[in-house]
Amino acid sequence: MKIETLAVHAGQRVDPATGAVSAPIHLSTTFERDVEGTYSRGFMYTRNNNPNRQALEEGISALEGGASAAAFASGTSATGAIFQALAPGDHVLAHVDAYYGTSRLLREIFLRWGLQADFIDMSDLAAVKKALGPKTKLAWMETPSNPLLKIVDLAEVAKIVHDAGALCVCDNTWAPILQRPFDLGADFILHSTTKYFGGHCDVLGGIVVAKSDGDLFQRIRNIQYEGGAVPSPFDCWLILRGMRTLPWRMRAHSQNAAKVTEFLAAHRKVERLHYPGLQAHPGHKIAQKQMSMFGGMLSFEVKGGRDPAMKVTTSTKIFTRATSLGGVESLIEHRASIEGPGTTSPEGLIRLSIGLENADDLIEDLDQALRL
Ligand SMILES: *Cc1c(COP(=O)(O)O)cnc(C)c1O
Repeated sequence: MKIETLAVHAGQRVDPATGAVSAPIHLSTTFERDVEGTYSRGFMYTRNNNPNRQALEEGISALEGGASAAAFASGTSATGAIFQALAPGDHVLAHVDAYYGTSRLLREIFLRWGLQADFIDMSDLAAVKKALGPKTKLAWMETPSNPLLKIVDLAEVAKIVHDAGALCVCDNTWAPILQRPFDLGADFILHSTTKYFGGHCDVLGGIVVAKSDGDLFQRIRNIQYEGGAVPSPFDCWLILRGMRTLPWRMRAHSQNAAKVTEFLAAHRKVERLHYPGLQAHPGHKIAQKQMSMFGGMLSFEVKGGRDPAMKVTTSTKIFTRATSLGGVESLIEHRASIEGPGTTSPEGLIRLSIGLENADDLIEDLDQALRL
């Protein structure tokens, strides 16, 4: 099946009890036991499993081409479950440009519990090779990165990491559908389903998809129901509903972003523009190799630094000033002030999450904001 068909049908079945085409939401926390004491219908208690969560896990796993998936209450709790599945003393290699919250999770929580971690620029393959050691169990890849849209060569990094006997995770939150990490060698895929999967800025969630059902995934599964950071049935329902339109939305997000990029590239107040679809982008060749389209995220630097950048973010009328990404509505954000002290974001940098409005309206909005 092609990806659009999978997105519509994976994890979906007509409800046998009622014939409902859209799945019912099972709010029940507990399920009836058979007279023999067993649970022949497969559900016992909602923290362990729930029909809506099972449908979501089957759906996203099928979409990514994995063997199994475990859904969590947020992208961050899904990330945490992967690290919790490792043992004290294990070494994790993470991309220096990994999601801010992921590196904070490692530095502030997991180092204290005995994990070791190094953060390196994974676009430098020699640096990856050098940083791998006998205790390295996991490499954390993320591409395109936040907020500079840097590109990591997933296939090359995966090869190097596997040669060293470690496993690879790819955080694919920014490029679902467009990028197929299992085909490129990843062993696990992480999504913050809060973003493009949910797609409407109204639900928080995360998921770990495993290429095969090995020991590490079994530990993640145990952490899911023993740790209890599970999504509600309604959240699972919303995320799976979002998945139904995901391939078409990703296409439209990418097309809109390409048009906005074209406008910004020609603007005299724009000093630098970061979008992997641009010929001049340092990761363009690799992005072309591993992405089918270049996604809906871009950033640009305004001439003059912080003050003119802030002025732009307070002058747009269609773009909403807010963090996060992946919704139908376009968002604008001054990244350095969101991240606060210690940020590596340039002061003039503005990040855009391009939504599903008409690109001409988005361009007109940016045009008037840049003129002020
Ligand atoms: C948002 C995000 C996360 C964290 O997900 P939450 O759902 O906010 O916990 C992880 N990785 C990336 C790339 C993200 O954009």
